Amino acid sequence: MSDPLPPAAALRRIAFLLERAREPTHRVAAFRTAAAVVDALGPEELDRRIRTRTLTDLRGIGPKTGAAIVQAHAGEVPDYLARLEEAAGSLVPLADDVAAFCSHLRGDLHVHSDWSDGGSPIREMAEAAIGLGHDYVALTDHSPRLTVANGLSAARLERQLDVVAELNEELAPFRILTGIECDIDTDGSLDQTDELLGRLDVVVASVHSDLRAESAAMTGRMLAAVANPHTDVLGHCTGRLLVPREQGEGRRQRPRPESTFDAEAVFSACVEHGTAVEINCRPERLDPPLRLLSLAVDAGCEFAVDTDAHAPGQLDWQGNGCERAVECGVPVERVVNSWTAGELLEWTAG
Ligand SMILES: [Zn+2]
Ligand SMILES: [Zn+2]
Repeated sequence: MSDPLPPAAALRRIAFLLERAREPTHRVAAFRTAAAVVDALGPEELDRRIRTRTLTDLRGIGPKTGAAIVQAHAGEVPDYLARLEEAAGSLVPLADDVAAFCSHLRGDLHVHSDWSDGGSPIREMAEAAIGLGHDYVALTDHSPRLTVANGLSAARLERQLDVVAELNEELAPFRILTGIECDIDTDGSLDQTDELLGRLDVVVASVHSDLRAESAAMTGRMLAAVANPHTDVLGHCTGRLLVPREQGEGRRQRPRPESTFDAEAVFSACVEHGTAVEINCRPERLDPPLRLLSLAVDAGCEFAVDTDAHAPGQLDWQGNGCERAVECGVPVERVVNSWTAGELLEWTAG
């Protein structure tokens, strides 16, 4: 993509490419903030600010973002964007078999918005997914007890369902599937009302607490969640973190090892109850580890190759999971997000 874009779109494209390249989130956020400032200005005020060279007087616009705005406004591709596009073009392409596997995917079943701990509005996530050629994404913001991630109360989730319904009318035939990344409580129950879980298209159930529990307890907890009729996908099953992770305001989460549990028991329960095992594509997760992924293939599990994207550029991370799926011999027909939205919804409802 090298056609000139309007200023706000150019800034968002820069943010997308920075995210995809795993640049620090504050750098990405600067461009997205500037895009929002430009949106709020309106075209006349933007003209005036550029003419009077007062763009960088605005809160949220600095020298780099300001220069990109001026160039985009003049109908040029900003230098900053051109450099990023060039770098993106020279990335090592996926191996042929991995690219072929990726090409079967029609959507993504684990995506966050700024309603919980994601960085962007639902619409921007959906538009980025459309840009990648997806037919659908499941919006899976966090559940209430994950307060550090601004988990959604039942009331907020109800409101989100209305917002999604409106967006879907506008974005059709693309579809935002309603969903949740639901915490698995220590007793194995799911952290949202039964009534609401029953109304959602996709329920990803994940362990986010007490990750160091001993194996028997963790196994029991996961078995209960996998057997729950509302659960469709078991999210990042080991909870491992391979590298430190930025948590905003300069806080960092340290790497952590896999949780221990009886993987054979959990995966056979997944087969029995029709719960897909997630292949989480986040570079700091890459969960399950290859040895467990192979075990799940042998057990006969179904899979969801999910980015767990918290920002639009991260929606492009599915290649990470596809690479691992190919390495472990995952049959693509067992990947539920290679199915059409209709087939997928029939499966989640079943
Ligand atoms: Zn999670
Ligand atoms: Zn998540």
